[in-house]
Amino acid sequence: MINKEVIVIGAGLAGSEAAWQIANSGVPVKLIEMRPSHSSPAHHTSEFGELVCSNSFGALSPDRASGLLQEELRTFNSLIIKTADSYAVPAGGALAVDRSKFSKSLTDVLSTHPLIEIKKIEQLDLPEKETITIIATGPLTSDELASKIKIFTGIDSCHFFDAASPIIYGETIDHEVVFKASRYDKGDRAYFNCPMNKNAYINFRNELIEGEQASLKDFEKESANFFEACLPIEEIARRGVDTMRYGPLKSIGLWNPDWGDLFNRENRLKKRPHAIVQLRKEDLDGKLLNMVGFQTNLKWSEQKRIFRMIPGLEKAEFVRFGVMHRNTFLESPKLLLPTLQFLKRETLFAAGQITGTEGYAAAAAGGLLAGINASLLAKNKSPVTFPNESMIGSLINFISNKNQIMSSQKKNKFQPMPATFGLVPELTHRIKDKKLRYKAYQERSIKVLQRFKKILDKYFEKNDLLAEIN
Ligand SMILES: Cc1cc2nc3c(=O)[nH]c(=O)nc-3n(C[C@H](O)[C@H](O)[C@H](O)COP(=O)(O)OP(=O)(O)OC[C@H]3O[C@@H](n4cnc5c(N)ncnc54)[C@H](O)[C@@H]3O)c2cc1C
Repeated sequence: MINKEVIVIGAGLAGSEAAWQIANSGVPVKLIEMRPSHSSPAHHTSEFGELVCSNSFGALSPDRASGLLQEELRTFNSLIIKTADSYAVPAGGALAVDRSKFSKSLTDVLSTHPLIEIKKIEQLDLPEKETITIIATGPLTSDELASKIKIFTGIDSCHFFDAASPIIYGETIDHEVVFKASRYDKGDRAYFNCPMNKNAYINFRNELIEGEQASLKDFEKESANFFEACLPIEEIARRGVDTMRYGPLKSIGLWNPDWGDLFNRENRLKKRPHAIVQLRKEDLDGKLLNMVGFQTNLKWSEQKRIFRMIPGLEKAEFVRFGVMHRNTFLESPKLLLPTLQFLKRETLFAAGQITGTEGYAAAAAGGLLAGINASLLAKNKSPVTFPNESMIGSLINFISNKNQIMSSQKKNKFQPMPATFGLVPELTHRIKDKKLRYKAYQERSIKVLQRFKKILDKYFEKNDLLAEIN
């Protein structure tokens, strides 16, 4: 006999979304969060959905993979995206949020929902199999629970190293040096830019490479297996003299009007900086600024010393220094169905980064699907899968059992996957132009998803529509 209440472990992005979807379908939820009594090495608050590093959900435009994922989530009344939209800050084409208002609002909404009971404790074990449960404990799942998951699955979880960028007080930057602009003058002048000449860049890079690293504690013995999308800045610097200039410190497309005519080639060549460090607003007023792409494992004293070498940041005061941690994720293709249920136990689901999806919106997408399916199961209905043409569907199908055959054939090691158009099926007709092709993916996805949503809504009421859905 299956219990009707669903347990969601972890009130991060995935768990918050899952709890919201379940409660809104009329099923009671117990949402269990260990913070603040037991915190993770990267979280700083006790609020739900805390964004531990960047405050950006990625490109906003729906003809970009992350933008499409956000748009799909909006179709399903996602709490995470609705809240992100409400607390957005200017970020030149990206959906970035005031992280503090974002998390506070999520916490308020979920804590006051009549069908959600909040329990602030560390979950130490998996609940019994009669209880429908979603594990959404993220990349920093507490050790005790991680060891129980390992025993349950019989597979050692995978891991990689990830790092977070520092945040500085906006009033402590030198506005005589730092200028506001967006790349190629697109949208608002949302970024603060610190220009560097060649000498400053070379000296800065040398110090970065030599800078003293924080200890990786018990993980030291393992070789550092970084996640390529979130490399520490000192690791990028180590890879080559110009690697930072072609990465986060790229100066192309950024121009300070005080430097004169951009279209005068001679002037441009003379004045264009060798590299630019960008700062992105954390809040609407720009009181807090995130150092874009500056995730790091340098010691805090070294961060202060070396980052103050950046022109305009000589007197910068730090709200938070960068940190680096080991992230855990499951070998999902061996363990999960595309419904996000464990193959071994139909009442147990996993969602979020622990399943090997990468990125904030992707974590919310996993929470959305697991939430919908946990709710269906509580109503004695079969769980569903999302259409492959959608970004949600293709991403979840990739990380789940549907991918198992593919990856074992190719002998690929499973690695976390962000939303990308590389996952969606080809169009029936070939479109050469990339922009037009992405637009076509977007239109196809939204069309398919709107139909899917209509049937799903009816399926929640009636039983006989499963065949139409899956
Ligand atoms: C240092 C670092 C930097 C990152 N930077 C970025 C970035 O810039 N951009 C990006 O898109 N992604 C980033 N990520 C990945 C990021 O964690 C995910 O994108 C997103 O937060 C995942 O959401 P989630 O809900 O799966 O996990 P989380 O948001 O981590 O939520 C999991 C929740 O579960 C709780 N929990 C854990 N164990 C237990 C337990 N036993 N009992 C009860 N509660 C528990 C945690 O306290 C937490 O609140 C970063 C991750 C780390 C660790």
